[in-house]
Amino acid sequence: MSKILIKRARLIDPSQNLDKLGDVLIEKGRIKAIGDDLFELEAYVIEAKGIVACPSFVDLHVHFRDPGQEYKEDLESGMRCAVAGGYTTVVCMPNTNPPIDSPEVAQYIIRKAEDIGICRVLPTGAITKGRKGKELVDFYSLKKAGCVAFTDDGSPLMDSKLMQRALELTAQVGSLVMNHCEDDRLAYGHINEGYVSSLIGLSSRHVSAEDVLIARDCILAYYTGGHVHLQHISSRLAVDIIRFFKDKGARVTCEVNPYHLLFTEEEVLNSYANAKVNPPLRREEDRKALLEALRDGTIDCVATDHAPHAVWEKGSLQGAMPGMIGLQTALPMMLQLVRDGIISLSHMVGLMSCKPARILGLEDCGSLKEGYKANLVLFDTEREWTLSEETNFSKSKNTPLWNKPLKGKVVYTIFEGRIVYKDV
Ligand SMILES: [Zn+2]
Repeated sequence: MSKILIKRARLIDPSQNLDKLGDVLIEKGRIKAIGDDLFELEAYVIEAKGIVACPSFVDLHVHFRDPGQEYKEDLESGMRCAVAGGYTTVVCMPNTNPPIDSPEVAQYIIRKAEDIGICRVLPTGAITKGRKGKELVDFYSLKKAGCVAFTDDGSPLMDSKLMQRALELTAQVGSLVMNHCEDDRLAYGHINEGYVSSLIGLSSRHVSAEDVLIARDCILAYYTGGHVHLQHISSRLAVDIIRFFKDKGARVTCEVNPYHLLFTEEEVLNSYANAKVNPPLRREEDRKALLEALRDGTIDCVATDHAPHAVWEKGSLQGAMPGMIGLQTALPMMLQLVRDGIISLSHMVGLMSCKPARILGLEDCGSLKEGYKANLVLFDTEREWTLSEETNFSKSKNTPLWNKPLKGKVVYTIFEGRIVYKDV
């Protein structure tokens, strides 16, 4: 099956302002042609009437728990979730055991993912050795080993001097810093400080914990000229701060998690520990500000923060590990925003594909241009399904959406010209 012909799909590619019905011919792993009525005798034909075809998704934020906590997820199960969700490039976080703070661990991940071969896994390196926040890693050797960015995610980098240095040094090696923005001296509780935390009497994290670190990182990016990418932003004020510094020309980009766009702190009352995530689900006014920032382009991209945990790690709210799985539910969640008229379908594709690819300067993804590697997702916006034991590819099932009705389903994922996921 070296040739694939996709017939009569709705082709969407914001990188070339494309939104029309058409055909795509894939040959030798690359997009050979895009046209109105293509014909190729030897090709495997996908009849795609009523189906959207677009550049496959790029996720700048996943936790695959490999090496060290493979009972939650490993590279293979994580990659299967990715392609089932329409992703063919994912960026994994360094809070593994051992952490990704040496070229050896980065290379382990890259080689193992290449062996599995169904999508691309790009590691981030830690900013500090052991993610302990004390001593910077060797950015150059980690970049050479394949790390595409640097973050201590799982934890924030608290030391401002180290953050300043990291921004300068990563800029010198042509890379960037990503930060989990929550001041850990201010954020020590379990859920957002607000109505729900007072209702159930649980210790909580005030939104200012996020705002303080967002502001600091924007200021340091502004003065150093380094590039900071702010991870999973969730607060109203954070959005205003980012908008302000983007206007000033600071090299600031940011991502949002679909859960923060669709849920508020009240979800804790329905889903308990499965609604516990850091930063926490916020108030409705925060959610509304995020939607506005999505619309006006302040938010650059959507990232899932796919964070698997075992069932026994999601017991009581106090004891539970924070995080949710999200690779397979991102598309139906984002399609909900399209149905609600918040963003267009083309804008959604940009947020999930073209723009994250651009943030990391990744080539050969995030576009359907002729000659590019054939990385595509085909999805049905109307198909209804549930994430359940039958459909879930993760080793974990920590999500508020478990067994809930979802609308919008990936039907094909194509990685470098090969069909790596199919559900028709
Ligand atoms: Zn994080």
